[in-house]
Amino acid sequence: MSFADEANSAVPTLPSTHSGIPTFLLEKAQKAKEGIFETRTKPANERQRLPVVPLGIERDEFTKALAELRGQLGAEHVEINDKPLKDGWYMEHPNTHDMMTILDEEELVASAVVYPGSTEEVQQVVLWANKYRIPIFPISMGRNLGYGGAAPRVRGSVTVDLGRRMNQILDLNPEDYTCLVEPGVSFYALYEAIQAKGYAHMWIDTPDIGGGSVLGNTIDRGVGYTPYGDHWACHAGLEVVLPTGDVIRTGMGALPGSNTWQTFPYGFGPYSDGIFSQSNYGIVTKMGMTLMPNPGGYESFMYTFPKEEDLGPLMEIIRPLRISNILENVAQVRHVIQALAALGQPRSKFFTGSGPIPAEVVHAAATTATAVGDYTWAYYGMAYGPAHIRAHKLALVDAEFKRIPGARRVDPATLPADEYFWARDRVAAGVPDIHELRWVNWTPNGAHVAFSPVSPIRAADATALFALGKRAHDRYGIDFFPAFCVGLREMHLIVEIVFDRDDGAARRAALDCLRDMIDEAAALGYGEYRTHLVLMDQVASTYSWNDGALMKFNERLKDALDPNGILAPGRCGIWPKRYRGRGWEMTRESGHVSEGSGVEPAGL
Ligand code: ADP
Repeated sequence: MSFADEANSAVPTLPSTHSGIPTFLLEKAQKAKEGIFETRTKPANERQRLPVVPLGIERDEFTKALAELRGQLGAEHVEINDKPLKDGWYMEHPNTHDMMTILDEEELVASAVVYPGSTEEVQQVVLWANKYRIPIFPISMGRNLGYGGAAPRVRGSVTVDLGRRMNQILDLNPEDYTCLVEPGVSFYALYEAIQAKGYAHMWIDTPDIGGGSVLGNTIDRGVGYTPYGDHWACHAGLEVVLPTGDVIRTGMGALPGSNTWQTFPYGFGPYSDGIFSQSNYGIVTKMGMTLMPNPGGYESFMYTFPKEEDLGPLMEIIRPLRISNILENVAQVRHVIQALAALGQPRSKFFTGSGPIPAEVVHAAATTATAVGDYTWAYYGMAYGPAHIRAHKLALVDAEFKRIPGARRVDPATLPADEYFWARDRVAAGVPDIHELRWVNWTPNGAHVAFSPVSPIRAADATALFALGKRAHDRYGIDFFPAFCVGLREMHLIVEIVFDRDDGAARRAALDCLRDMIDEAAALGYGEYRTHLVLMDQVASTYSWNDGALMKFNERLKDALDPNGILAPGRCGIWPKRYRGRGWEMTRESGHVSEGSGVEPAGL
């Protein structure tokens, strides 16, 4: 299919496919798709003909093992990955590889994809993997873009795509404001189900784009933008298939006949949920989630600040307001360059030179091309509750923000309907969107990868991280897109590097820039809250207090729970015994190769 044909083909919708777009966003999605294929030049992948086989098993044995699994799950639920890799786009994403690859695209690929239909079938897959010592890699939706997408860390792993057949909302409780979901329920689907039931008194919390799995995003500790933005903190209860095939329910779910699984997260005894987030200790098959009561009104607000130096004073103003909940949501401080990128146009529209786009070009373009006009920093927030309560909080915020000379409150009535402000408005009100996709068009074949350090909400930290990021980006000639997401007592700086994934030099520059930033940030006391598959070993190595005591503990847990090392080896830097000491870690020194020199033979 040509790119033009692909651009015009219909975007899949809910409920005909679990990963589809809701009808209310269809037109927007179709437009986004056209924009993406307009800038695509990357030729189709031609190279892969034979399935990749994971190290540690012979091809014949692997083929025999897959045939056995077909017998158990049904032939149609086991697919060999022997076709050319197809990137698609956000709404039609692959489950075989990372469609935003930062390495050679065949580096992190699956050998096969399997589709279990129940917890029992997940157990069967796990037992099968143990029998043949085949690495498996679970995904829920596989839209973890910027962090590795659907790709497995070990080349040739068998991807366990849970979402395709396990995508039910098992419970939606309008009295307790809770739900129980399977891996394949997206934020879009949960939102739609709540609307369909007429439960207007319940809100969901959604990330910038709503196509991810609620469960997948939560166990990877993703965030959204309502007061329920810390998804992990808002979950209650898990069902997990352990790497040996046993099934457990955490919290109150361990009590047979429990009626509080989704309302009291802890249960009795050690709180085990934590070890199943950002780990490779289990496959989560069900998760409870709390939902936010509709606050009875809301109002978005946006302030702009003229100078780069305003960042520090702004952080000092934000901290006490955020901790005391006058600023109520996970809000964002974004640089004006992002307002340009959010227009969805290529950077070449504003600048055709090489190296980072100059500041004066950004400011001039912001003046002429955006409805908000020029500034350096923007704060996007939302006040919740009835009008009189909002008025009180907004007056406090206004007085504080206006202490910065030149601070301006943007009047939303002056903004056109497709202005980025309204996307922030919807997302902060729990309405999933797709607008955020636009900035990927900044380069042809646009891909993104994130640097996400955690820091205190302080002038010194914000300016230090900004300077660190800017220096590294300048070094590699990359445009710098900083956004500070303010949590409660800390903030995440999210820097998305947008790069042409068909350009090897651009991929390499992005990766080298990230590696520099991770090391430099760690030297100053900042660590990442989440990272891309390719960077997990490096990030894990920065959490090295007391001679790497935490990783030693993680490895002991891994060896106890997964003695054959079959589940997502290497994820989050945790390598099972079979792989350790064989050069599997990806570091600056190891270059761009993801495989080590084999695994410990079975039977040892
Ligand atoms: P999303 O589409 O919500 O972004 P993914 O399905 O890509 O999420 O999952 C994000 C990451 O979390 C994956 O890379 C995978 O390693 C892990 N993961 C996802 N679902 C599960 C699950 N059900 N059990 C264990 N790990 C999972």
